[in-house]
Amino acid sequence: MRYFGGGLFTPMEGYILSLDQGTTSSRAVVFDDTGRPVSMDSRPLKQIYPQPGWVEHDPQEILSTQIEVAKRAIFEAGLEGEQIAGVGITNQRETIVVWDRKTGNPLHNAVVWQCRRTSPECVNLKEKGFEELIRQKTGLTIDAYFSATKIAWLLENVPGLRQKAEKGEALAGTVDSWLIYNLTGGRVHATDYSNASRTMLFDIAKLEWDGELLDLFRVPEACLPEVKPSSTLFGETVEELFGHPIPIGGVVGDQQAALFGQACHSPGMMKNTYGTGSFLLMNVGSGQPEVYPGLLTTVAWGIDDEVEYALEGSIFTTGATIQWMRDELGIIQNSEESRELAESIEDTGGVFLVPAFVGLGSPYWDMEARGAIFGITRGTGRAQLVRAALEAMAYQTRDVLECMVESSGIKAGELRVDGGAAANDFLMQFQADILGIPVLRAAVTESTALGAAYMAGLAVGYWENRQQIVNNWELEQKFSPRMKRKEANRLYRGWQNAVSQTRDFRQP
Ligand code: ADP
Repeated sequence: MRYFGGGLFTPMEGYILSLDQGTTSSRAVVFDDTGRPVSMDSRPLKQIYPQPGWVEHDPQEILSTQIEVAKRAIFEAGLEGEQIAGVGITNQRETIVVWDRKTGNPLHNAVVWQCRRTSPECVNLKEKGFEELIRQKTGLTIDAYFSATKIAWLLENVPGLRQKAEKGEALAGTVDSWLIYNLTGGRVHATDYSNASRTMLFDIAKLEWDGELLDLFRVPEACLPEVKPSSTLFGETVEELFGHPIPIGGVVGDQQAALFGQACHSPGMMKNTYGTGSFLLMNVGSGQPEVYPGLLTTVAWGIDDEVEYALEGSIFTTGATIQWMRDELGIIQNSEESRELAESIEDTGGVFLVPAFVGLGSPYWDMEARGAIFGITRGTGRAQLVRAALEAMAYQTRDVLECMVESSGIKAGELRVDGGAAANDFLMQFQADILGIPVLRAAVTESTALGAAYMAGLAVGYWENRQQIVNNWELEQKFSPRMKRKEANRLYRGWQNAVSQTRDFRQP
């Protein structure tokens, strides 16, 4: 028998609740000990655009939707709170919330990872020559995407915030910290290594907030959370929430969670998530983290005393191009239709679409680039455009993967995939063709939620070891390369040409 948060369970009894607080929705999934979802619920999250390029969320809505879906998922599974052995949290990364320690009230809307409001500061920092220092300490490229300049902006622009933050009366944190604080009734202000590693304030080798960077961004340490391993006891949920206190045992950023959920536990294993954007992460093990231009080096997770690292390529726009074609161009009714259209033609007829809507992320980090379509003829129709959008997702992935292989010297064996657009068989086959390696789609599509569940389950002893997690992973479909390498390389050269022309173009 084991003791779980006040309830008595034999090993493998009970369930794990995973909270997946994403950019566009709050989701909750209940998992059983085989890592299969038992129930799931989700609620959309309102996107707030106060100015062009600015993106915010309402922290109270983040919290209320997250609690609502958690309660519903438990209810739908026919369970009571006491049957939940542990809670795992995974979250949209980099997004920053500030709140009052005493009242718990947010002091501003959350500044979301996509928000470009601090781009000018980032240009400034690069001009001042901070790029290498920041890359060496944090593994990151200077960009508005990461949290540091967002916190600095809030401290500068919210009246009274700096004074309160210095005294520890105001707290700042990523979305995981906001949730932990509230779920524990204000008792715990914490985050995990994987989330901290995305703030641009955290030394990923020493595993601590970096004094020099805190000074540079003028962020008082008093307002920041304590940083802990990803799989450890963070605290217990207050009794009123689920009728029973439940230990929070896992906290991990969404992309790292997906890497873990996909059981990429050994160096060289990698996954790509195809959502709004795409995030390719490769496990590079527990040694001293190496940094490479064009890529991010990030903490994958900390379990017990061991920390593992990952190389990451962040691609800002992939599935969002399909949404754009549906909502702005109106050339498809729904995203599923994109597969049928793409398969209705042999090829794009030489059309390439570079979806640099908000610039280009890895490996280019070109914030000024904007989208372009090349090779249009009178015969170009919606099928060619839609196919070019899907193909662009695969080409962007090859850009990142080639950079990873060249940088790390680790040979790519296979790619595990998940996310909404991974459901598209045309895209998955084309991805395998362009990369020349097999693409493996997992049976459980909720890899992100699953990764956080595993972290929690390991901490509370629900799973005994990581081998069980590796054993749980199940293949749904394998896509093997069919295209001749010569043809794949010819197409890829066309893409590279399109990217380079896109980057040459600048608004007058
Ligand atoms: P996120 O977590 O970033 O909100 P999801 O993983 O839910 O994203 O995936 C949704 C994204 O995937 C949307 O941008 C959508 O356009 C795209 N998408 C969903 N289904 C398909 C499909 N069958 N083919 C291509 N794109 C798809």
